[in-house]
Amino acid sequence: MRAVVLDASGRPAQADVPGPEGPGVEVEIRACGLCGSDVEKLRPDFAGAVLGHEVVAVTPEGRRVALVHHAACGECERCRAGHESTCESFRAATIRPGGFAERARADAWVELPHAVTDALGTYVEPLACVLRGAERVPRGRVLVVGQGFVGRLFAAVLRHRGDEVFAVDAEPARSGPEPDGPVDAAVLCAPGGAERAFEAVEPAGTVLVFADAGALPAGPVYRKELSVHGSRSATRAAMERAVALLPGLELPEPEVLPLARFDEGLERYRRREALKVVFVP
Ligand SMILES: [Zn+2]
Ligand SMILES: [Zn+2]
Repeated sequence: MRAVVLDASGRPAQADVPGPEGPGVEVEIRACGLCGSDVEKLRPDFAGAVLGHEVVAVTPEGRRVALVHHAACGECERCRAGHESTCESFRAATIRPGGFAERARADAWVELPHAVTDALGTYVEPLACVLRGAERVPRGRVLVVGQGFVGRLFAAVLRHRGDEVFAVDAEPARSGPEPDGPVDAAVLCAPGGAERAFEAVEPAGTVLVFADAGALPAGPVYRKELSVHGSRSATRAAMERAVALLPGLELPEPEVLPLARFDEGLERYRRREALKVVFVP
């Protein structure tokens, strides 16, 4: 089958590879979104990998589904405390080899309704990450730092639940509305901007760290007695909720390209010309 495989230097290359093997059910891939975390993996230590975890596929029974790409055990202490993405079982990939291919073997999925197109269905996984993170953000006035795709998803989810949402980005054209005073909480969706997030939050407020955002300022955490939470990745339950919420949200349209034009889509994403790129085999 055709797939995008990382070469020895970690660069994505079009390749013909054997069909998927191993446990799970073979599914036919319809669309796969390019995620910032995929771009971070374009390194020699991921040579040979097929990336892509925001996958819409069709099962042998003809069901259109969004694939679950990691599965927590649901029973250990961390899972029970709501930290499923740190569960030991969570590390194993459940989509083999990955989403940037014609087919894959998958362990689990959530079904998509007709109202959700293949391209939009790739938003289920990132939206689920956001819904899970949003549980740790108190309601009220919230500043979202970073307005790439995930920041936009976060702003949409918080607005939908009734928060007053402000948004800033390193690129002024992507910012707004800017905060008009202190906020109850801030969400860090991008590296850089941590100082701004921690300064904007009221005493006793909350900061959610939703990206590997670099060094965080301890001063305001100490002086203002802030709560800092981290959240990463999604669970199957959050994916179910994402499917239900997706048709009702106002979200940016993806740029859809054939998988054969992977390099072009990657370049457009890197140059920030495209907020979200979705590839179809
Ligand atoms: Zn992702
Ligand atoms: Zn567990």
